[in-house]
Amino acid sequence: MRFEELPTPCYVVDEALLERNLEILGGIMERTGAKIILAQKAFSMYSTYPLIGRYLSGTASSGLYEARLGHEEMGKENHCFAPAYREDQIDEIIELCDHIIFNSFSQVEKFGHKVLATGKKYGLRINPECSTQVGHDIYNPCAVGSRFGVTREHFRPDLLEGISGLHFHTLCQQNSDDLATTLDAVEEKFGPWLSQMEWINFGGGHHITREDYDIPLLEQCIRRMQDKYGLEVYLEPGEAVALNAGFLVTTVLDTMKNGMDIAILDTSASCHMPDVLEMPYRPPLLGSGEPGEKPYTYRLGGPTCLSGDNIGDYSFDQPLKNGDRLVFGDMAIYSMVKNTTFNGMPLPALVLCDKNGDYQVVHEFGYEDFRMRLA
Ligand SMILES: *Cc1c(COP(=O)(O)O)cnc(C)c1O
Repeated sequence: MRFEELPTPCYVVDEALLERNLEILGGIMERTGAKIILAQKAFSMYSTYPLIGRYLSGTASSGLYEARLGHEEMGKENHCFAPAYREDQIDEIIELCDHIIFNSFSQVEKFGHKVLATGKKYGLRINPECSTQVGHDIYNPCAVGSRFGVTREHFRPDLLEGISGLHFHTLCQQNSDDLATTLDAVEEKFGPWLSQMEWINFGGGHHITREDYDIPLLEQCIRRMQDKYGLEVYLEPGEAVALNAGFLVTTVLDTMKNGMDIAILDTSASCHMPDVLEMPYRPPLLGSGEPGEKPYTYRLGGPTCLSGDNIGDYSFDQPLKNGDRLVFGDMAIYSMVKNTTFNGMPLPALVLCDKNGDYQVVHEFGYEDFRMRLA
């Protein structure tokens, strides 16, 4: 299919751009021996898992459904962390996963023996209480009162038997200098027990495939844990795997005026790019400028009845007209995994663009996808 023929709205994932990211991650794995796995929370378009699995070591999950998806669609190393596991799911999770990561010693005491009985490994999430991000507490697992990980105060060296590794996840869209700072805190608080572990998992939030990311410093951080403590190092980035590898294609449905020019699109910030409202941020739009930068400025809004369903203000060289197609950038991550059918909105189709520039619609959604979630 050609680009002009695609149904809108649709998410388009570009395999060449995805593979470019995977090559960067693969290089780090090759040079350091660290293992990198895909955090499915950010990106679960499983039609790309065979490609991702050619480079990465496997998948990271946050519960049974992601664990099952990773197992069925990639079938490589499968790790699971959850703030607390359900009694009725833990056996299946253990069956599907290689590493089970517990969030507390009470979870270890409740379920640890089940993991050991199957010969699998379990780890403990620690909270180094080192906030290296400012502002976004919604994305800060080290915020005061966080439910994530065992702090030094509640760490129980007497209960470490059976625990084969430690896991931390404290970063969000950050560079490796913040990882180095976090490792200082990890060593300061948990250093005495690192040598008795087999592995350490640095979590996600490493913006590795961003242009200004300091990869040599990341590799230094990895070697530091390998050389000093003899640890196997895991990273589980989500964003970095599919960063800037996808687009959201939308069509202008109408234009109007109310003190300014407004365009109504067939895609919704609330339903199809919820981080735009949650983070919040203004997504890149191909060929557009900042408000006032080009001659025609519009506020772009969604087709829902939510007053705040605005994507942002953008300027264009020409006036927008009905039927125009707009393409938002960086729409692979935290988009299709978070979308909803709120207000009866159709879900965007899922499209792959191969290396020859051919587009293939992998899946289209319809009325039934809205109806089946209600009763
Ligand atoms: C969200 C999350 C990740 C992935 O984070 P990114 O910011 O997408 O890289 C990895 N591990 C855990 C435990 C997470 O919660």
